[in-house]
Amino acid sequence: MTLAYLNGTWQPLEDARISPLDRGFLFADGVYEVIPVYAGKAFRLAEHLARLRFSLAEIQLPSPLDEAGWTALIAELIERNGGGNLSLYLQVTRGATSKRDHAFPPAGTEPTVFAMVSPMAPAPADAPDTTPGVAAITLPDCRWLRCDIKSVSLLPNILMRQQAVSQGAAEAILLRDGEATEGSASNLFIVTAGTVITSPKSPLILGGITRDLILELCREHGIACAEQPISEDALRSADEIWVTSSTREIVPVISLDGATVGEGRPGPVWRQVAGLYTAFKRALADNV
Ligand code: PMP
Repeated sequence: MTLAYLNGTWQPLEDARISPLDRGFLFADGVYEVIPVYAGKAFRLAEHLARLRFSLAEIQLPSPLDEAGWTALIAELIERNGGGNLSLYLQVTRGATSKRDHAFPPAGTEPTVFAMVSPMAPAPADAPDTTPGVAAITLPDCRWLRCDIKSVSLLPNILMRQQAVSQGAAEAILLRDGEATEGSASNLFIVTAGTVITSPKSPLILGGITRDLILELCREHGIACAEQPISEDALRSADEIWVTSSTREIVPVISLDGATVGEGRPGPVWRQVAGLYTAFKRALADNV
């Protein structure tokens, strides 16, 4: 049984209830985080909390907890759910009031804070020899211009991901003004002539925590890398394509819109970087 946190109380996830007037429900007026937990330890917690702080500030919602408060809540959530490897979900909305109104509710309206965990599926990087890689498609990026806010307003992402799934692909890679930005729920990397390239941070992408760690690991281990725009041509002629996220880590893409990427199997640079990522993760888990 999963124990969830909702506005100061702990309860079985299936018993947790919010008001239909909650602005998260009515307007998707809220933000969220997904934090991987390895061996009972929240991974890159400071980075996730910094992004949560950024998202809250950008939607002008004062944080209901300070850094120590979030850290304690997350530790208790992990402990109450038995630790291990988990995907931890955290959501904050602008709360519920007595009527539906687009404008912000009266000062003093309590934000809704919800947190839960779910089991973490093994990531491809954990089994590099048997990972087949995934198919991806490209789609026009139909989202708004503030994709750097981790908003719960995910309808465009959902529709694009579903289009990928209905075509037998695992991810949609998004194109805007001739450039590939990111995936519907992931950041994008390509490898061209041995250099690892990812889109620069901007309001058009979510600044992924996994993305940042991959760049850090590349720099630390002397792997050439760059943050630069990825043209559609560069994407289509890349030697390797990866999509990255906290829960899936680094996923090699072996076909794009039905065309083979590289040699049609996970590439050597993916293998190297996935190995570094797994080693980093395991070292951290061992130090718990
Ligand atoms: N971009 C989008 C649109 C996402 O939804 C996600 C993850 N949910 C990411 C990038 C990857 O971010 P992170 O590595 O922090 O999980």
